[in-house]
Amino acid sequence: MRGTGNHWDRNDPRRFGVRLPSAVSRLRDERLTAAGVTLWLKRDDLIHPDLPGNKWRKLKYNLAEVGDRDILTFGGAYSNHLRATAAAGRLLGVGTIGVVRGEPHLPLNPSLARAVSHGMRLTYMDRSTYRRKHTPEVLDALAERFGDCYVVPEGGSNALAVRGCAELAAEIEAQLAPDVVCAPVGTGGTVAGLAAGLSRGRRVVGFSALKGEGFLDRAVADLQTETYGRQRGSWEINYEFHHGGFAKRSARLDAFVVDFAVRHGIELERVYVAKMLSGIYEMARRGDFAAGTVIAAVITGGPEPGAAPIGR
Ligand SMILES: *Cc1c(COP(=O)(O)O)cnc(C)c1O
Repeated sequence: MRGTGNHWDRNDPRRFGVRLPSAVSRLRDERLTAAGVTLWLKRDDLIHPDLPGNKWRKLKYNLAEVGDRDILTFGGAYSNHLRATAAAGRLLGVGTIGVVRGEPHLPLNPSLARAVSHGMRLTYMDRSTYRRKHTPEVLDALAERFGDCYVVPEGGSNALAVRGCAELAAEIEAQLAPDVVCAPVGTGGTVAGLAAGLSRGRRVVGFSALKGEGFLDRAVADLQTETYGRQRGSWEINYEFHHGGFAKRSARLDAFVVDFAVRHGIELERVYVAKMLSGIYEMARRGDFAAGTVIAAVITGGPEPGAAPIGR
């Protein structure tokens, strides 16, 4: 820890108004019962209005390292991570700088407007530079402009984020005894930590919110190696349920979200959470989970007025 003595107080969840542990609730649904599957929802979406779920878990240990520097981080125009970082910086009393992929568009979308309302300064980066954003050359240029900042990578996923997400696994195991823990995947930090934190005999199934095959396995493996020096735990990533790609909608996904709200009174976040749950239901239906399997699904976030527009 850095020298000023009080960093653990500074990043105490209570200081941020984060309420832990998040609740678990059993979902009663005849389609799952028919498949012999018990599904629990781990309601990480409810821990804080501005620092939901995995965004808090990933920022927690990073915030302890910030000191008095500003925080600089990266994201797309609809990034939940940018918005959460802005809120965390305000609560911590440090400035935040958001490097946004692509060209500026005015008026700001609700997601970026919220980040700015929390005091974040925005700067835009063309897409080809953005692809090289974590290289020393680009980082040096940013340091030249914004001074000595604490840099958090895109999506907030680094070794400290993985350690924060490993705590989520322990929190779940204090509440439930799941065979399988499911989580959505964007950059892989959440799955990397969950898998590392779970006890032997339990496994993680991640559901990619992005179109593509295999690339997130690499990301999770790299994050675990960066954090622990090796891969840990049992995990796999399913790439079937992206519904057309990141932040895209499909008629099937829409129908799933509407049906889920009617049956369970829960409005699902669509970019990540609805895709994961649609995947769990489909895998249960076709018998991918042995009868008797207990699943804990991490609800990493809730619907936001400023969430990505569906169908871009
Ligand atoms: C950012 C985000 C994710 C992705 O988590 P990763 O650790 O980047 O894989 C999942 N769900 C929600 C709701 C998010 O905002």
